[in-house]
Amino acid sequence: MSGDGRLRALLARWVRPAVAAMNAYHVPPAHNLVKLDAMENPWPWPGELEQAWLEALRGLELNRYPDPAATGLLPVLREAMAVPPEAEIILGNGSDELIQMILLAVAAPGRTVLAPEPTFVMYRMIATAAGMDCVGVPLRGDFGLDREAMLRAMAEHQPAVVFLARPNNPTGNLFAAADVEAVIDAAPGLVVVDEAYHVFAGETFMDRAGGPPNLLVMRTVSKMGLAGLRLGLLAGPPAWVETLHKVRLPYNINTLTQASAAFALEHRDVLLDQARAIRAQRTRLGQALAALPGVTAWPSEANFILFRVEGREAGAVFDGLRARGVLIKNLDGTHPLLAGCLRVTVGRPEENDAFLDALADVLRG
Ligand SMILES: *Cc1c(COP(=O)(O)O)cnc(C)c1O
Repeated sequence: MSGDGRLRALLARWVRPAVAAMNAYHVPPAHNLVKLDAMENPWPWPGELEQAWLEALRGLELNRYPDPAATGLLPVLREAMAVPPEAEIILGNGSDELIQMILLAVAAPGRTVLAPEPTFVMYRMIATAAGMDCVGVPLRGDFGLDREAMLRAMAEHQPAVVFLARPNNPTGNLFAAADVEAVIDAAPGLVVVDEAYHVFAGETFMDRAGGPPNLLVMRTVSKMGLAGLRLGLLAGPPAWVETLHKVRLPYNINTLTQASAAFALEHRDVLLDQARAIRAQRTRLGQALAALPGVTAWPSEANFILFRVEGREAGAVFDGLRARGVLIKNLDGTHPLLAGCLRVTVGRPEENDAFLDALADVLRG
């Protein structure tokens, strides 16, 4: 057998069919483009803060393994995220890793993960990689949670885990708290309330973490301006957190991340000011989008805006924007509710202007 044939035979024999059928998470190149595709905070730190951060990193011992208990970081996080004393905390290398830990702890053949859809794609991807089935329950036309459909699907599929992103990505809305409570009450397994966009929203379930025995509340520092650090947090009943520690890799939060996150959160006024500026830009961008003929923009509680173009292929609009130097996200074809839809991250004022000018130009053409 040729080397090539041997290689193909090995892959065919050993890679699980569910994994073979997956596509890797694709990150498009953004070189020289106005990058409004990934919900990043567009602002760096002021120079004096950057200097102080570099000072805080001085003397860290990179020859040693990181502190497995993140003793310097945990109290700062607990305070910054207002985690109740009843709740225990576990950290992940991004909240993506926390999703992976949760599913690693519960995965078994025939077990199911359930989420309303459209939502964050990593729930389905990680469930699939963990060998679980994933059930998607369509949101209502206004992107609200379909409470009755959720309750029916939970009764039928008995999901080990239900994921609720609040605010939801890519729709930007907050599911009604009463609907989320009904899901928590009726769920046979865990309910993860994913608050990745919390700094841009007015509501949280964090104050309930450690209360309901099946509730885990997840946060990340990514969207608040520290996407490069890779740090997520899960808060919930101590017994669940102890269980998740069994599947956590021992040194998953590296030394530089621990020190940098503790420093950044001690200076979080800067990040919170930036979040305020992003919310103000969100209002302006939403109004400008809604004023464009043939564009429908949905209200958002996050740092991005979902919009639909009429009478144009969303793919052609995406390509036209990129040709004009602006990268956003095309969602057309990813879910029936997102036909003709694109998602733009709120950027700096001049980036939002560049996007709006490019979009007006594309729609004129
Ligand atoms: C971006 C996003 C995350 C991922 O966060 P990381 O901490 O960067 O892994 C989690 N959940 C939702 C809903 C997101 O949109």
